[in-house]
Parts: sequence; C-alpha cells; structure tokens
Amino acid sequence: MTSDLTPNQACAAIHEALKALPLLASPADVPFGDGLYFFYEQGEVSDHAPKERIVRVGNHPRSQGGLVRRLRMHYSGNKNSSVFRKFLGGALLRRDDPSNPCLSPAPGKGHWERQDARTCPRCAPTETLVSGLLRDRFRFRCVRVPDLVERNGLEALLVATLAACDVCRPSSSWFGLHAYSEKVRASGLWNSQYVGGPTLDRRSLDRFLGMVRRSAAEV
Ligand SMILES: [Zn+2]
Ligand SMILES: [Zn+2]
Repeated sequence: MTSDLTPNQACAAIHEALKALPLLASPADVPFGDGLYFFYEQGEVSDHAPKERIVRVGNHPRSQGGLVRRLRMHYSGNKNSSVFRKFLGGALLRRDDPSNPCLSPAPGKGHWERQDARTCPRCAPTETLVSGLLRDRFRFRCVRVPDLVERNGLEALLVATLAACDVCRPSSSWFGLHAYSEKVRASGLWNSQYVGGPTLDRRSLDRFLGMVRRSAAEV
C-alpha cells in the first residue's frame, strides 16, 4: 500500500505536537481516565526530539477508565502485571550479568522474562530497581482518546510509525539494547507488539493531532 505520509514525517509531527502537553512523573497527575501514554527516557534524543524522544507508547486496551491504573502497574506493579517492567528488569539483569540464571535457558525464556513465572529470591529485588529506574529516568505524556476501538487502533499505528522512523534511532548506549526482544532492540522502543505493522496515514495522523490539541486545552 502506498501512503501519503512517510513514518519520518509523521514521527516529526507527533514529537512536535506532544510538546504542548505536560511531562508527568506520576500516574496521580494524569487528568483523565482514557487515553494513550508516551514515555520519554533520559539521554535518548534525536533530530525529531532534541530533548527526549518517545521510547514507549502504551494503552489500556481492554477497559474503559483504566489509564491511571495501567500506569500504576508500570510504576509500582510487578513484572507479571506489565510487559514494560518485564523488559526493563530483564535488561537490568542482562546488563549486569548475561549468564544470570533468572534469564536462562534463553532470552525471553527465563523465569524473569516469562509471563506469569514467579520471581526467585535472586531476582525479586529487581522489582524495586525497576520502580526506581522508572521514577529516575522516565517521564510521560498522555493524550485523551475516549473511544476504546479508536484508541486501540491508534496505539497500533503509533507504535509502528515511531518504530519505522529512521531519524529516531536508539543511542549506542541505550539501555533497551539489553532487552531480549529483537523488536525492542531494533525499533528503539520498549514495545514489541505492533512493531513492523501498518503506519499512520495523513487522515489518522490529523485526527490524532486534533486529540493532542484538545488534551492540551484540558490541562
Ligand atoms: Zn530469579
Ligand atoms: Zn522520529
């Protein structure tokens, strides 16, 4: 399919528009219950984002009113309640010791990185480290998207678009390069789902930018 908009053009417009929204550090500061969130990570910059580039897009895909709860799962939940925490903790463990038994037998297959597997006494303290990392090195912005179907569709398009931008590449010291997911390492995003999928066209980008403007007027 030919598109009327390249991922690079869309990515530049997204980064520029989101600057109108406050950069938040706590789920308690989110002013609405339904929307998408965009995480920024200290030290990760690009020509589209000289201060900080977007490093994760997320959603609360199955429930209405769940945005704040979803963000709380990231900040103070556990690795089985948040794929973001699973990625971050796995990257921390691997950076410190690639042969850590909590990551064995293979990337993505150890008990830390496997969904619903339990932590052991050795990796349990990683939960505290992940919470500290999120508080110290990450900030986020939220865009109000009231409709669930539209929100889920936009999430997929936004992840794929930001992942496909070849201006916003991870720095050589990006922490995500220790993540087990090939899609995280290649995209420069702490996202794996939707990476490589269809990207935003002009119409859906314009609709999203309208939502950003309305969100900015609300806060
Ligand atoms: Zn363990
Ligand atoms: Zn970009």
